[in-house]
Amino acid sequence: MLTAPRMERCIGCHSCSLACARQVHRRLSWDTAGIRVASSGGLTSGFEAKTCLACNPAPCARACPTDAFSQRAGGGVVVRKKLCIRCGRCAQACPVDAVYLDPAGEPFVCLHCGRCVPFCPHDCLELAPIPERACLPGAGPEVLP
Ligand code: SF4
Ligand code: SF4
Repeated sequence: MLTAPRMERCIGCHSCSLACARQVHRRLSWDTAGIRVASSGGLTSGFEAKTCLACNPAPCARACPTDAFSQRAGGGVVVRKKLCIRCGRCAQACPVDAVYLDPAGEPFVCLHCGRCVPFCPHDCLELAPIPERACLPGAGPEVLP
């Protein structure tokens, strides 16, 4: 699963989000990405990454009425965009606000493919095994193309 273990190094360049938007989702905006980076807020000058926790079971998949979001073996979701009716229930169900809805209601979420990782100039990101507690018995982490 995608993790962001070294965000203290982040400079807010959005390279990770842009790589995801361009290469995975075929979009231009860094919002239309599975990873989004924002200021930590307050008096700090740091940044935080919004990433999917690869839940198992995934509340977003359970909330989806059309199977556009379905459970991914090992954690997280498989997305079938053609089935999406843009109801927004996946985004409502996510406990960590990891699903972004664009202005037309299309959802964007991390697929844990790791394609953003080499684009970070400060090595903030990492593709790590899903913790045992998040896995179904016998299910291992699966990386989507
Ligand atoms: S998008 Fe949210 S609810 Fe769905 S698997 Fe990721 S963290 Fe869990
Ligand atoms: S690529 Fe790295 S430094 Fe740039 S915004 Fe993403 S996490 Fe931060």
